[in-house]
Amino acid sequence: AKQEGRNTFRFHTQALSSAASERLSLDTRLRRALIDSEFILHYQLLINVNTGQFAGVEALVRWQPPGEDMVPPGKFIPIAEETGLIVPLGEWVLRTACKQGRAWLDAGLPAMIVAVNLSGRQFQSADVVALVRQVLANTGFPAQYLELELTEGMLMDNAKHSIATLNALKDLGVRLSIDDFGTGYSSLAYLKQFPIDKLKIDQSFIRGLVDDDNDREITATIIAMSHILKLDVLAEGVETEQQLDFVRQHGCDYYQGYLSHRPEPAALVEQRLRDRAS
Ligand code: C2E
Ligand code: CA
Ligand code: CA
Ligand code: CA
Repeated sequence: AKQEGRNTFRFHTQALSSAASERLSLDTRLRRALIDSEFILHYQLLINVNTGQFAGVEALVRWQPPGEDMVPPGKFIPIAEETGLIVPLGEWVLRTACKQGRAWLDAGLPAMIVAVNLSGRQFQSADVVALVRQVLANTGFPAQYLELELTEGMLMDNAKHSIATLNALKDLGVRLSIDDFGTGYSSLAYLKQFPIDKLKIDQSFIRGLVDDDNDREITATIIAMSHILKLDVLAEGVETEQQLDFVRQHGCDYYQGYLSHRPEPAALVEQRLRDRAS
């Protein structure tokens, strides 16, 4: 089968649908982009609902091919997931975000959370715990300020195994949050057992706050439930004062959204941190 490899590959390539071969070439371009350092991180500020203070940042990856428009993660993360490139790309994201967090501390800025998205494939990989441990050791970023964002789907896929991995990550001292909360199918029984620190209410519910009764009920319920479970809760995608008022009145702890800040390059975020600190 080894000797046939090449021909088989060529045969399959010719037989690929155009969508699939587009994917193939995009995968090749993405692999090259990682080698050529064409990925960058933007950071979106997380805000304390009650005080307006900066509570941290979420790192969000972008692809900047030279001379072309910036490519949003929705366009390449799913493909990177499929092809496995997400593993080295995710490692780059984690390392870069922790290095940045360390640099801000070294510059004398107040310590704050740096949140990093983990993909399902990364979370399921056998050495995710070793990776996080190693990146923390290499960068010197304090574990208690690193927050790893996971989704319900990733956790419920193999809930028993997830609990073990989550506990091992917790043992490193990092924080754990559930992203896009409310869109998956978490069981309350498991939610109670997961050693998580924060729920992030999915932006689809926040979008509907002004004119959808269901979204209001769901948002209020997630906030109340978070407090019963002694978890922090953050509203994602807050774009208007009305949305912020609603989550504030219901006791939500944190928010992020265009109302406050878009995801921005590190230098711009750093300037905001300096202005605020002085
Ligand atoms: P997410 O983790 O839910 O990230 C929040 C997304 O909402 C970001 O989109 C952010 O720009 C956007 N957003 C923030 N505030 C607002 C708002 O007020 N209104 C609206 N309409 N949108 C807002 P972005 O950066 O395009 O990222 C999309 C998704 O790509 C992320 O969703 C996450 O699932 C994934 N992603 C981004 N970076 C990474 C990464 O480094 N690793 C992995 N595995 N996934 C990533
Ligand atoms: Ca996220
Ligand atoms: Ca989210
Ligand atoms: Ca997401």
